[in-house]
Amino acid sequence: MTYHRQLNAVPPIPAATELPTGFVADTLARPLQELRISLTDRCNFRCIYCMPEESFGKDHVFLPQSALLSFEEITRIARIFVAHGVRKIRLTGGEPLLRKHIENLIEMLAQLKTPDGRDIELALTTNGSLLARKAQSMKDAGLNRVTVSLDSLDDAIFKRMNGAGFPVSDVLHGLDAALAAGIGPIKVNMVVKGGVNDREIVHMARHFKGSPFILRFIEYMDAGTSNNWKVDEVIPSAEVVRRIAAHMPLEAINSNHKGETAERWRYRDGSGEIGVVSSVTRAFCRDCARARISTVGVLYTCLFSASGHDLRALMRYGKSDLEISSVIAHLWRLRADRYSELRGMATKGMEREVEKIEMSYIGG
Ligand code: SF4
Repeated sequence: MTYHRQLNAVPPIPAATELPTGFVADTLARPLQELRISLTDRCNFRCIYCMPEESFGKDHVFLPQSALLSFEEITRIARIFVAHGVRKIRLTGGEPLLRKHIENLIEMLAQLKTPDGRDIELALTTNGSLLARKAQSMKDAGLNRVTVSLDSLDDAIFKRMNGAGFPVSDVLHGLDAALAAGIGPIKVNMVVKGGVNDREIVHMARHFKGSPFILRFIEYMDAGTSNNWKVDEVIPSAEVVRRIAAHMPLEAINSNHKGETAERWRYRDGSGEIGVVSSVTRAFCRDCARARISTVGVLYTCLFSASGHDLRALMRYGKSDLEISSVIAHLWRLRADRYSELRGMATKGMEREVEKIEMSYIGG
């Protein structure tokens, strides 16, 4: 299992430093537009597709607080990325709400402005178990949108998926609290694993149809190396749409913006929409504009990366913003990641050949 003990290279400072211009593109002409920041490697769930108990058991050693980026370091790094064109920041984990005083960080990040003076969009991905307590204070601090994972409405299936015995009601309360706090849009992510929760697809769709929440179905992915992924446990998004449409007719609609991970489908009767995220059967690498920062300040240019670049070291070695900014521009320009596309083209078994960082370490 590739985890934080892996040595990540401290990137060299380019010979010529450069001021950010608000735009930088990689080798596939994909601009740097979204930054996902993991606030902790800890989680109170043990989801079988991300942090299974077998690999993250009672004796698992989590990162010491001193290893984590401080809120000041996170804000500094984020400011540099925003100067390169990032306009959306998503806070992830592990479970980000386990990071104490998260509202303070949200407040600091909410001050950031794009090079042309606009607010950045602040989003958060959570398992929802602590959301009811935190929604209002995060909204007040400047949070714009939230994505909540919920893999079933059936308590027994949900507890099997989250591996920690958390009931559905906790998450539903969190959703209601986020809505009441005025956070929005609010998305609900269901990871569909064949033979475990796929028979819940229509039930979930019926429950959220006509509600203010946008339900999205996520194809089960070979993220990391600890979830024992098998391709025949993937329910293709086309099958998910077919099952729902058999009961509640759907029509495809355009994405909200270039690089959106979900394909959108609207109910023909006008009662809302769903999304499908098809990393396995319809890879979306060609427009992927996302960078990820781990909880210890390592930059990863793909969810399925095997190694990253240690930006924390540069900050703690006293490198200037201009030097760190030049490093980020240089690394992004070298980026050529398209793991999901390649997986799609590869013969069976690629998912086992490649060492990959754990999703709980860099956020989804
Ligand atoms: S596999 Fe990597 S490059 Fe492709 S969409 Fe996912 S994060 Fe982006």
